[in-house]
Amino acid sequence: MKGRPVRAEPYLDSLDVITGEVIGRFEVTTPAEVSRVVEHARRAQREWAQVRVTVRAKLLDRLAEVFKARRNEIAEVVTRENGKPLAEALFAEVLVSLDSIRWHASRAERMLRPERVGHHNLIFKGKRGRLEYEPWGVVAVISPWNYPIAIPVTSIVAAVMAGNAVVLKPSELVPWCGALLGELFDQAGFPVDLVQVIQGGGDLGQALIEASPDKVFFTGSVATGRKVAEMCARRLIPSVLELGGKDAMIVLSDADIEAASSAAVWGSFTNCGQACLSVERIYVEPGVIDRFTDLCVEKARKLRLGSGLEPEIEIGPMIRRQQVERVERQLKDAVARGARILTGGRRRPELGECFFEPTVVSGVDSSMLLMQEETFGPVLAIQGVADAEDGVACANDSAFGLGASVWTATFARGEAIARRLRCGSVMVNDVISCYGITEAPHGGRGASGWGRTHSRLGLLEMVQVKYVDSDVFPRGPKPWWFPYNRGLIEMAEGVFEALFGSKPLDRWRGLGNAWHGYRKRQR
Ligand code: NAD
Repeated sequence: MKGRPVRAEPYLDSLDVITGEVIGRFEVTTPAEVSRVVEHARRAQREWAQVRVTVRAKLLDRLAEVFKARRNEIAEVVTRENGKPLAEALFAEVLVSLDSIRWHASRAERMLRPERVGHHNLIFKGKRGRLEYEPWGVVAVISPWNYPIAIPVTSIVAAVMAGNAVVLKPSELVPWCGALLGELFDQAGFPVDLVQVIQGGGDLGQALIEASPDKVFFTGSVATGRKVAEMCARRLIPSVLELGGKDAMIVLSDADIEAASSAAVWGSFTNCGQACLSVERIYVEPGVIDRFTDLCVEKARKLRLGSGLEPEIEIGPMIRRQQVERVERQLKDAVARGARILTGGRRRPELGECFFEPTVVSGVDSSMLLMQEETFGPVLAIQGVADAEDGVACANDSAFGLGASVWTATFARGEAIARRLRCGSVMVNDVISCYGITEAPHGGRGASGWGRTHSRLGLLEMVQVKYVDSDVFPRGPKPWWFPYNRGLIEMAEGVFEALFGSKPLDRWRGLGNAWHGYRKRQR
């Protein structure tokens, strides 16, 4: 399998994440070309906005067919370029995307219908109000490398269903995935220029924002998110920012420790730990910490490292050497401050440059970089806490606020703790899988960003709300218009009493006074 050949320089190489071999080469879009791309998108969007939502849905159905038919090929490209095992590529990329496409195709029309707004105030009973949802125009989607299919797809399908055009700038580390997405939308028959993919690095992302799209959906690191937010603010472009995370897992003493340890191992090591919704900090109550830790170590040691193209491989390589070095720096700092590496903690150069063993660390605390910064690597860090209260305090002691999980046999207790955690989503007795629940909004607080993707809330991020109001009594001036006089003041007094009087009798009297003032005003 080879990437599309380029026609001209400059180009971007797609690398096999294990061997570093060039497996595809893609034309780069120069920053100078971006305004033309946005202009074409704008033209395509004007026509697309006139297309009925039910017709848009039919194209999404076709896209779903294309995804389903080419699922193995998509998964293979992801595995080769990004490194995640095939099973993860199939579930977390293709299945999540396909479900989102189908969901939008079948539900978006209902969610985008104009919505009646009732008026509670007597004064405005003669009006009919409604909300109308209108597309922004051109939406820029700037995406990261860690989920190179599911992250952009879930935003693109919401955007186009809502009547927008999209310019996608995938990460420069996964150009093949980006190009493949463009190809899949083309194959499904989307109008020319409605969904365009531009290839390049951070400078191109910057140029895309400078070309003034109508809204920006950015997913990536906090550092880049800040730059994107600043650029958007200067241009008054609204943005949704999906940034990093430092997800806490709280394990209470009544939890099923067997299940909780399996979840911790999967949540920490899936995608080689390079997941935004993840398990990064584990807080465990005293009675169960030893057993929990032993089980995590035992399960981590059994994980098989290698090429994700082989079905039984569970841990692939990290994306680049810099990412490995970041993990090593955090581990070194943790050990220097008293943490213990119970298993892992080493590179595996015989497998490839970026392989790192699944690592379990105990005795960590909040002074360590490992518990402060996003790790984004295969590290499972366990900290003992005095009790559930302490666990909640530790979990909330972070600049990030993306996801979290609580483990307990007592459902009500888990839900009560979930309400107190400062983050965008909490799972009780599961981790991460809410990303695959299409109805569940995804997004964070604090340093994890703002706005939502996925779900009805994500769809509503793709529209501007217009309030339309029709008066059913088109004739005659309104009583509050000019001219002003004493009668109007008397009328106002009556209206206040009629609307806000504390007793029914006062309200009726107020109504009479308002009418009296109104008549006086007419004379
Ligand atoms: P990154 O910030 O380096 O890059 C993300 C994208 O932004 C890339 O396409 C990149 O080319 C582009 N970019 C870089 N500089 C830019 C600039 N100045 N202006 C505009 N665009 C620019 O992030 P990454 O390394 O690709 O991804 C990993 C990060 O993404 C992690 O921090 C992870 O937590 C986060 N992430 C968050 C979520 C979420 O939903 N919250 C999901 C996945 C990943």
